[in-house]
Amino acid sequence: MAVQTVASNTDSANVANTANSASAVDLGPAVALSCRECGERFELGPIFACSSCFGPLEVAYELPSGTGSSQDVEALRKQIEAGPETIWRYAPLLPVPADVAGKPNLSPGFTKLVKADNLARELGVTGGLYVKDDSGNPTHSFKDRVVAIAVEAARAFGFTTLSCSSTGNLAGAVGAAAARAGFRSCVFIPHDLEAGKVVMAAVYGGDLVGIEGNYDDVNRFCSELIGDPLGEGWGFVNVNLRPYYGEGSKTLAYEICEQLGWQLPDQIVIPIASGSQLTKIDKGLKELIALGLVEDKPYKIFGAQAEGCSPVSAAFKAGHDVIRPVKPDTIAKSLAIGNPADGPYVLDIARRTGGAVEDVNDTQIVEGIKLLARTEGIFAETAGGVTVGVTRKLIENGLLDPALTTVVLNTGDGLKTLEAVAPTAGPTATIRPSLDAFRAAGLA
Ligand SMILES: *Cc1c(COP(=O)(O)O)cnc(C)c1O
Repeated sequence: MAVQTVASNTDSANVANTANSASAVDLGPAVALSCRECGERFELGPIFACSSCFGPLEVAYELPSGTGSSQDVEALRKQIEAGPETIWRYAPLLPVPADVAGKPNLSPGFTKLVKADNLARELGVTGGLYVKDDSGNPTHSFKDRVVAIAVEAARAFGFTTLSCSSTGNLAGAVGAAAARAGFRSCVFIPHDLEAGKVVMAAVYGGDLVGIEGNYDDVNRFCSELIGDPLGEGWGFVNVNLRPYYGEGSKTLAYEICEQLGWQLPDQIVIPIASGSQLTKIDKGLKELIALGLVEDKPYKIFGAQAEGCSPVSAAFKAGHDVIRPVKPDTIAKSLAIGNPADGPYVLDIARRTGGAVEDVNDTQIVEGIKLLARTEGIFAETAGGVTVGVTRKLIENGLLDPALTTVVLNTGDGLKTLEAVAPTAGPTATIRPSLDAFRAAGLA
């Protein structure tokens, strides 16, 4: 594997806390990284942990001020609405250069918000039920959003190789984005993923490495690789570019609110792998409120896990603040992270907003996939089966109010996890090509 040369400013990883001269990096309204724990600020660079307290870093902005005049708010709203029907319509709120839409990237986002009346009837939801269907992204999962932002950061920092540790969808999203943007890619996955995920990750022509172990092993390996000369000059979208990557999930919050007519939903059900998506959707909602783009009102955030990998759900139910890592065993492989980095923040958000974290077993996941397919014509991957199954369970438990406006996320495409439903979704009958045979099958 060729070692990449380190571009000029990537060495800020090692000097993050020193007084560099003002950086020339143009990431639009992003002005710094700040520690989520202690608030310490760092220059924009490929770093992800606070050098003082080891807390995770996140992007800090100089955002357009909305709180002042209603004219400003209206101007920003108009600017967004006039933008492309992709995540780039929100470029003024993201760590990307203003001309991002013109750069070679996959331009994901602005996926459908489907009013799911049939599913609502089935689940007894009367307050309006919507499915945010991210299977409509370029590589058929929500990961195109986070990768698109990380790619712009990688460009700004001069990386030439893109990499990641992936539960499956991320590997495909990175492979495709690298191909389009002109990066080399080398991505890492657990060796035992679904065929659809493996093929998707390989077909774009980058290097794909299966690791003998689960996602947590893959992630540990990548952390070692970053600290080694072998990984020098590599942008790991979900490790050293994680603060930027995470911001991509905010676009789900922006889109949902815009598609609801610039209103907050009352309740959102979000799947949890590392928990990044859930925490950044909350961040996005809070930004819209602060900017005055939506009216402030309470909203509840619910997290969804598979029973076979439910460390956050277990901690939520036990009332614990600490997440005890587990060894995943579930068909929802895209959510199979046993030691979720953002788990504690997910707990905070679910508790603060009056939501909850719940889990469903493999049988209920398959039922969830089939229920969504049968009622709305949407074929979700296992993660979507988790959110639909958990939504049903939360209603039964009385934790989710069926009289309120509810958005359920489908984050991936069922064609990538055919294995989950293939045993119970085959032909109704197989017959000779004759009317007699069809009559005998009793289907007319
Ligand atoms: C990665 C992924 C998620 C959630 O990821 P987080 O690590 O929690 O941000 C959800 N659904 C699918 C299909 C995914 O691939």
